[in-house]
Amino acid sequence: MTESKREERAILVKMEDVHLAFGQTQVLKGIDLEVRKGDAVSIIGPSGSGKSTILRCINGLVTPQRGSITVGQTAVHELKSEAERIPLRKRIGIVFQQYNLFPHLSVLENIVIAPVRIQGVGRPEAERHARELLARVRLSDKEHAYPGELSGGQQQRVAIARALAMRPELVLFDEVTSALDPETVGEVLAVIRELVADGLTSILVTHEMRFAEEISDEVLFTEGGRIVERGSPASLFHNSSNPRIHSFINGLG
Ligand code: ADP
Ligand code: MG
Repeated sequence: MTESKREERAILVKMEDVHLAFGQTQVLKGIDLEVRKGDAVSIIGPSGSGKSTILRCINGLVTPQRGSITVGQTAVHELKSEAERIPLRKRIGIVFQQYNLFPHLSVLENIVIAPVRIQGVGRPEAERHARELLARVRLSDKEHAYPGELSGGQQQRVAIARALAMRPELVLFDEVTSALDPETVGEVLAVIRELVADGLTSILVTHEMRFAEEISDEVLFTEGGRIVERGSPASLFHNSSNPRIHSFINGLG
């Protein structure tokens, strides 16, 4: 959450009336969403409600049958081929539940490989940036370690540094703490909290309700392929009249 007034910041992501089906199954049924530069927008909601699919639409991994998606000046829904989607994907970082680090590469190598090979960044500059990012995720002492030597929380922090190494305009976090041991969840959330405070534009799918409440500019509640409620954390978590949201937030499903 950055300090400047939200409505004064430029719109980075806009989805309008997005409908998406896999075969006969309608998964998104009219999604509208707006993310401004510096925003942290959280998506909460039950499993299968379409949260991951919304993220996949934004970086062009799936294409809706109806509606529009823009990221900056790019009309994502109009991109026709994987080749056309490559520049978009370079602008968007993604961190998943499964961190999928390269097991045979050191922590530092995991972070520099994409900037060097995909963006053509010089090796000294890529390493300098990687070390800066390792400091931000509090893993400066692990640059020579291999993923298998790290805890889940440490590996997830490397995955976050790896995403940031591409200098993305936007980072999508899809349930990044859901597979972690409870004792390492906090260290990952602490890193994301700091990145958001520093102005990283992000969309977060999360089951960490307190965290979403604390860091979000806006929270969206999805159910059955629709955003059934949206608003400030306070309005959603404390002033919602929707019983579904109450029971979801209170862990009753
Ligand atoms: P969430 O992230 O909220 O758990 P998803 O966006 O992953 O939900 O999935 C929404 C719905 O779409 C689910 O019913 C899921 O089974 C279905 N779905 C997701 N991806 C595919 C796919 N590639 N093919 C068919 N159905 C899919
Ligand atoms: Mg999901």
